[in-house]
Amino acid sequence: MTTTKELIIRANRVERVRTLCGDSSEPARCQTLRRYQRMILWKCRELLPPLLKHTDVPARITESFILSGYRFPNYSVVQCLVSAFRPTNETGNFWTHFLPVFVFGFYFAEPFGWENSVPANDPFFYPLWTYFIGVFCLLMASSMAHLLNSMSLVVREVCFFVDYGTISAYTVGSSLAYRYYIHPGAGIPETSAGGHNDSREQPSLSSSLPTAPEFSVFFETFYIPSSCLVAVICVLACCNTRQRWRTYRYVIRTLVFLMPFLVASTPIFYRLLYASPHLPGSTSSFPTAGFFYWHCFWLVASAVFNISKVPERLSPGRFDIWGHSHQWFHVCTFLSILEELHMITGEVRAILLHPTLVVPPASPRHLPSPSAASTYGVMLLLQASIASIIAWFSYCAKGIHQPQAGQQGKEVLAIRHLKCH
Ligand SMILES: [Zn+2]
Repeated sequence: MTTTKELIIRANRVERVRTLCGDSSEPARCQTLRRYQRMILWKCRELLPPLLKHTDVPARITESFILSGYRFPNYSVVQCLVSAFRPTNETGNFWTHFLPVFVFGFYFAEPFGWENSVPANDPFFYPLWTYFIGVFCLLMASSMAHLLNSMSLVVREVCFFVDYGTISAYTVGSSLAYRYYIHPGAGIPETSAGGHNDSREQPSLSSSLPTAPEFSVFFETFYIPSSCLVAVICVLACCNTRQRWRTYRYVIRTLVFLMPFLVASTPIFYRLLYASPHLPGSTSSFPTAGFFYWHCFWLVASAVFNISKVPERLSPGRFDIWGHSHQWFHVCTFLSILEELHMITGEVRAILLHPTLVVPPASPRHLPSPSAASTYGVMLLLQASIASIIAWFSYCAKGIHQPQAGQQGKEVLAIRHLKCH
């Protein structure tokens, strides 16, 4: 496929030949060259429509304190994909969630290679795979939403509905991993990385119940349904911010995503607050707490960037292409996911090393076994519910934005004409 750069070089060559030809050269040959030049320039223009200022695009797609680098919402799929390699105000947003897919995949695969590990397709790893699905969909949907949102106003709305949906599905993927690997009744001895612990051979288990009965009931019965319900509420609220409550949309979206974090993290809070019943002298039964604190730190940092709109607020126009708050928001959210992954895999490692120590024998001897229905099934059901909500909001968005499409088409032609001449 001919790249844009090659097209520009060829156009320049034709221009040089045309100049050399002048009026005295063979008319037929020069006419052909001119036609060829016009065709190449037209293709260039088609591939690379000029970037626009915030005053040249519909108010709907402008971002606070971002003054330039906008793509008009009428790009083709190819133009959107090509724009990933062109400095626009969405390029950084795309790469800051696309490249992390590979980093996440690298660390995710680690547990399968550990000594004492079970095969990757063993039911033990089902919750880890559902967590992977949640994170993978979040990163891919987010990066593609930023890349493809300039196809039309309707597509832009759909892109961000899908973005919110995948964030919500990710929170349920986390809950499923917590449900099976971060059991509130677990008491996992601290281990050095990669080492065996003798307590596996000489377990000293208490017969006391691992958790308060009321919390056990919540954890065993209501924890996952609550996570799913909160995720659905999140999608409904965030999709609504694109059609109403627009003034406070960033605050609402940030606060709305605090809810699933609080619900999903309940077993972790329990583990942090209560000492393990079968680890005498311990103050906390959660040796991977450090990762959790970093996970929280990066989440708070991402929220600060998302709400404050710093640094572009301090110098409007200076961070239009690189370094604006949404890119830092993406970086911080990915770092929080990475810390969460380390926390989960740390607990997985402890379970693999100490299969009988994670819960005392008087209560459930082992962590509840994951099944395809309780992991993939839950995720599938949730995704189907979220897809229905997105379909409904997309239908509404089509009714609102499609009538404007014809008018925008005329506007973009006029703006392009002005920018190119
Ligand atoms: Zn984003």
